[in-house]
Amino acid sequence: MTTHLHRPYREPNHTQAWLIGSGIASLSAAVHLINDAKVPAANIHILDLHSGSGGGMNPSGDAENGYFLPFECHPHFYGSCLEKLLSAVPSQTEANKSILDAIRSSGQFQRPPPQDYALARALKQGESGPEAVDTKGIHIGVKNRMALIRLMLESEKMLGSHTIKDMMDESFFETTFWMLWATSFSLQPWHSAVEFHRHLRKYLEDIQSLNNLKTSNRTEYNLYESLIVPITAYLNNEGIDFRFNTEVTNIRINREEQPHIATEIELLEDGTEHYVRIEPTDVVVITLGATSSGAALGTNNSPPPNLSSGWEDRMLCDWRLWQKLSQVSPNFGDPTNFLSQSLRSAVECFTTTFKGPEFMKLYETLTHDRPGTGALVTLTETNWSITLSIPHQPVFHGQANDVNIVCGYALSPLNEGNYVKKPMSRPQVIPDNTGNIACVGQFVEIMDDTTLNMDYSVRGGQIAVTELMGLPEKPEKLKKSLLLEIFDLII
Ligand SMILES: Cc1cc2nc3c(=O)[nH]c(=O)nc-3n(C[C@H](O)[C@H](O)[C@H](O)COP(=O)(O)OP(=O)(O)OC[C@H]3O[C@@H](n4cnc5c(N)ncnc54)[C@H](O)[C@@H]3O)c2cc1C
Repeated sequence: MTTHLHRPYREPNHTQAWLIGSGIASLSAAVHLINDAKVPAANIHILDLHSGSGGGMNPSGDAENGYFLPFECHPHFYGSCLEKLLSAVPSQTEANKSILDAIRSSGQFQRPPPQDYALARALKQGESGPEAVDTKGIHIGVKNRMALIRLMLESEKMLGSHTIKDMMDESFFETTFWMLWATSFSLQPWHSAVEFHRHLRKYLEDIQSLNNLKTSNRTEYNLYESLIVPITAYLNNEGIDFRFNTEVTNIRINREEQPHIATEIELLEDGTEHYVRIEPTDVVVITLGATSSGAALGTNNSPPPNLSSGWEDRMLCDWRLWQKLSQVSPNFGDPTNFLSQSLRSAVECFTTTFKGPEFMKLYETLTHDRPGTGALVTLTETNWSITLSIPHQPVFHGQANDVNIVCGYALSPLNEGNYVKKPMSRPQVIPDNTGNIACVGQFVEIMDDTTLNMDYSVRGGQIAVTELMGLPEKPEKLKKSLLLEIFDLII
């Protein structure tokens, strides 16, 4: 949902669309440009620094040397915008079906149904070994309950730049209830109270059931293979102009015009400078930053190189463009708030490739859950705040039967931090006072919605296309019932 006025209809045949980045946000914009706005595929250009599409969702490795599965690629997803996207793309494997229909039918018929719900959302060290933590109910005491209700009823303006820590008593951060939120959404006590406010209002009703994958869409393999590959193949077949190994270094903007208009894209294609002229009839959709920028990979024998050396150079190529745009106008937001805290807010992700069934057997014995029943298992007393995902197997096409893959992340790999996301550091999808420019990805502002999920990037892509092309249909509104949520807290 966006607060912008509806824009005039744009003639699709006379529109060239330049999409910067090839993650799910841009792929979503491309699909909706073709399907909803009827822009010819040959007029759509996707530019990315990397050698293939998918952005942060690219896996790597093999069974011999160990796989790397980005955490966001575990084989299940939810979100109405993502479902709409997948229902618009034909399946590559099943004739006359969309990707969404194919996923739903294979999930239903080819796999054993999961248990109704996962028994273990978290494990702790008990007297006789690891045991499941009881995560049901809201056991936070009357004082914390009242503080949560106050926080939920507060306006974002009043919450301002307060942190969650500013709003809640220290005892709150010791509760199992907080552990659920922190590990489901990578929240830290020093994160923005506005961010937590949005999460509470979006998920309070569902926080207990979010872990149960029975109601989510389960894909055959990891999300890169099951979603990114077929969407990219579809766009290639349609004739989209993909340009990889291409960094967009600047977008020239005519500030004399009201609203501001993008007039030229400067790019480095395989190291050579090029300039692309942008007409006022054209549109530019920019993925700001990247979720995995600056990432350093370890191997089986060596840890990832220390992030404190040389990480800026690795990272900045994804962020330079946003830095330049923020100097053009404050309407493009300010990446400083994300960049200046990047070491503190780094998340360490890992994938473990097991040969043989021992780990899975131990996991089932301990939790009484089959792999793929629950989304997450948090190990509550680990210093690194580790959360695991034990997906249904296989996760990769061609993965042998005796190979099992588990992935996880550590919320506190440095075990310190004071990261605060200030409100309004992010630009709107259509930055104020711009005419043919949209920003998408995890670092734009979408009112009431929460980041760290694909649906956010896809929703951004849908808003960009709807607004830039002047289409009548808006993305589905987020469900929200403050009364019901507060009721959940009271009882
Ligand atoms: C640790 C972690 C866990 C997550 N877990 C989940 C999860 O469980 N479920 C979920 O739904 N989501 C999860 N997410 C969120 C996930 O990142 C998003 O769902 C999705 O991958 C973001 O897609 P995107 O297209 O917005 O950006 P990205 O995937 O980051 O892609 C952006 C692309 O744009 C390119 N680019 C940027 N600037 C330029 C430029 N100037 N020139 C050329 N190319 C450029 C980048 O190189 C990159 O390839 C997680 C994220 C992280 C970091």
